[in-house]
Amino acid sequence: MARDERGVTPQSEDFSAWYNELVFRAELVDRGPVRGTMVIRPYGYRIWELLQADLDRRIKETGHVNAYFPLLIPESYLQREAEHVEGFAPELAVVTHAGGKDLEEPLVIRPTSETVVGEMMAKWISSHRDLPMLLNQWANVVRWELRPRMFLRTTEFLWQEGHTAHADSAEAMAETMLALTFYRELAAEAAAIPAIAGEKTASERFAGAERTFTIEAMMRDGRALQAGTSHYLGTNFATAFGIRYTAESGVLEPCYTTSWGMSSRMIGGVIMTHGDDKGLVLPPALAPCQVVIVPIGGGDRAADVQQAARDLAARLSRKDIRVHVDDRPQLSPGFKFNDWELRGVPIRLELGPRELASGTAVMVSRLGDQGADDQGTGGPGRAGGPGRAGGPGRVGGRKTELSLDSAVARISYELSAFQAMLLQRATEFRDARTATVNSWPAFTEAVATGWALALHCGRPSCEEDIKAQTGATARCIPLEGEPDSGTCVRCGLPSAYGTRVLFGRAY
Ligand SMILES: [Zn+2]
Repeated sequence: MARDERGVTPQSEDFSAWYNELVFRAELVDRGPVRGTMVIRPYGYRIWELLQADLDRRIKETGHVNAYFPLLIPESYLQREAEHVEGFAPELAVVTHAGGKDLEEPLVIRPTSETVVGEMMAKWISSHRDLPMLLNQWANVVRWELRPRMFLRTTEFLWQEGHTAHADSAEAMAETMLALTFYRELAAEAAAIPAIAGEKTASERFAGAERTFTIEAMMRDGRALQAGTSHYLGTNFATAFGIRYTAESGVLEPCYTTSWGMSSRMIGGVIMTHGDDKGLVLPPALAPCQVVIVPIGGGDRAADVQQAARDLAARLSRKDIRVHVDDRPQLSPGFKFNDWELRGVPIRLELGPRELASGTAVMVSRLGDQGADDQGTGGPGRAGGPGRAGGPGRVGGRKTELSLDSAVARISYELSAFQAMLLQRATEFRDARTATVNSWPAFTEAVATGWALALHCGRPSCEEDIKAQTGATARCIPLEGEPDSGTCVRCGLPSAYGTRVLFGRAY
């Protein structure tokens, strides 16, 4: 689609169309030549790099080290763990021909790397002194996708996968929870996404895992997005791949292993958690450009205005604020404003001869007055805000005068406030759309627009029935759920788990 000033289909009209247009219009992605594949364009890839840098720091600070394992895995490796191969078989891409001839053994393009990592761990671990082994890799994986959607479901995607081996079960469980903490904190602190952490029910568990934990985020259409998972694998893969160690007693023992992953899907989560009718709204921590400066007009003073814009950009840049000067000469200011709003830049500064003369710039926040535009959740306005600013809305946001002298400190403050406001707004939205329900009618009503916290019997067949009736699935058993018991919201049998289960329709 050509870039023009029409914007995208408003989110409030058609969420799905909004998303599908926005990822292209904001130049995050393009379609790859093979169906289901995605080209991540520089603007989208920068978001990934910022996510990656943050998570990589958390992973390394806790003693993990990065490694890299091959893309091609012998097909026989996957066969060794029965549940694993069964779970992944429908999504596998298999290489049967290479080097001009048919291969003796087909090769699988990794859908995940437990098998090849397991094979190497078996080789590298021999004694208790080799444990724990704490590995991570940043990689691409391939899972054949029949219903592709950019960032959310693509045949090839980017992720990290942690793989660890431990001497005992308790340590492996602690590791599983540590990884879940990485994801929950990354989501909250970088992506401003208030995700719910919990355990998957048996029917939603990772193929080959004993326990799977997840973070679930609510998108602005009320659906859930699984945004990171952490698996306790017990000794399943250790047994299949012979990952053993000699204990101090001299006895050969199996290792307990974990695996955990967060992918480029998180970018889809950012888009759908914060975006609005006008386009993206990016959290400053992940915004490729946090501040855009638009020099305006200037007549004979145009050169001075341009220079002042560049000077201001240099000052912001020295404080590690990601800033861009939009000096494209052929485009109107109005076009530029819309363009950067569509791309979700948190703060826009407008600088013209009048501002220059008074040593100021005009500052406009992508969140406008209060950051809660049309969601109806009534976010708390910025203190002293005059309510909805007048004006046509297309250029959005209240205009604030900013002194150039104190611009750097003020903008640092505004970016922090923006980040905090996004998390608060998303939390209020999530809470307003999450209902604790005790009856089937209340359940169906809740999952039509958001999430339901309900007692459940724990039977997979009952989960299936709920899915068939409502489209909702058990997202997780929240770790921070209050103790509760009674009867299943669907079938009336006694509840399981000792707490409520979070249900919702999911991506
Ligand atoms: Zn039931």
